[in-house]
Amino acid sequence: MNAVVEPSVPRGRLRRNEPMARHTSWRVGGPAQKFYEPVSVVDLAAFLAELPVDEPLFWLGLGSNLLVRDGGLPGTVIVTTGLLNTVERLDAKRLRAEAGVACAKVARFAARAALTGAEFLAGIPGTMGGALAMNAGAFGGETWNVVERVETLDRAGQHRERLPADYRIGYRQASGPADEWFIAAHLRLESGDTGESSRRIRELLKRRSDTQPTGQASCGSVFRNPPGDYAARLIEASGLKGRRIGGACVSEKHANFIVNTGGATAADIESLIREVAATVERVHGVRLAPEVNIVGRPADDA
Ligand SMILES: Cc1cc2nc3c(=O)[nH]c(=O)nc-3n(C[C@H](O)[C@H](O)[C@H](O)COP(=O)(O)OP(=O)(O)OC[C@H]3O[C@@H](n4cnc5c(N)ncnc54)[C@H](O)[C@@H]3O)c2cc1C
Repeated sequence: MNAVVEPSVPRGRLRRNEPMARHTSWRVGGPAQKFYEPVSVVDLAAFLAELPVDEPLFWLGLGSNLLVRDGGLPGTVIVTTGLLNTVERLDAKRLRAEAGVACAKVARFAARAALTGAEFLAGIPGTMGGALAMNAGAFGGETWNVVERVETLDRAGQHRERLPADYRIGYRQASGPADEWFIAAHLRLESGDTGESSRRIRELLKRRSDTQPTGQASCGSVFRNPPGDYAARLIEASGLKGRRIGGACVSEKHANFIVNTGGATAADIESLIREVAATVERVHGVRLAPEVNIVGRPADDA
């Protein structure tokens, strides 16, 4: 059942039992108990302030780095993509990108504004909020390297500005004040050239489609690269390319990708993640850490 409720204040759409498989790039995941799509930041702040203090909350971007288990997510999922989707120029070298804006849109906007430094975002299929949470990066670029400040909302609906110094930022991770989520980033870029940035974006996208299974449902890299090595190299050298559990399969094109070949469950994918990690540890003595966020309840707990 997928009931839709239209609350008057705060406004927005609140659905119940919304299948998360519709909102993740792996196309798997059980239902979110509640799924809230706000229509304004004011409504979002009011909605947050009214929630019970112990309500589990999960902020969702484009679901491109998420494995939601088959039993789904308890509590409320907050959706950023419909509302927080503006990118604007603040001054000569600065942009403000809201959390629900697709990274590719930020890259193109910066290129058109003749600003350089955001090209790497072009091929990352997530939102600015997800890129901040994950410190997403590619081809030498990293999100927090271009962040000057961020805007956040907390559980009480309080809006704040924060600096990078307020966060612990590392390789594919950033953690900061508890119970605060991103609503926008202010990016500081360098003066560049539209043609040159557009050429670089095309080149990065081509490198991706040459080396990654971009047409198949995945979450990108499943594991973080261990220091001084590549997860994909270790997985391939363990003979795991093509290894399959149910509909989940280690990609033949890029060994650090697990693809949903059709009909995979989150349990298939999680079992394959565990098997890959165990095999790499047995063969190479290296313990791989997942980059993907694994959330929610197994099916039998639902
Ligand atoms: C084909 C493919 C290629 C990829 N290539 C790359 C790559 O090159 N480099 C790379 O770094 N990643 C890559 N990824 C992974 C993914 O795109 C990034 O991690 C991206 O930043 C996730 O953004 P999202 O909006 O989809 O976040 P989601 O998957 O929706 O969420 C990821 C995490 O961010 C949190 N989050 C989302 N929005 C907010 C917010 N507003 N405030 C606080 N927390 C929030 C979520 O709660 C969750 O913990 C790839 C994925 C795919 C499918």
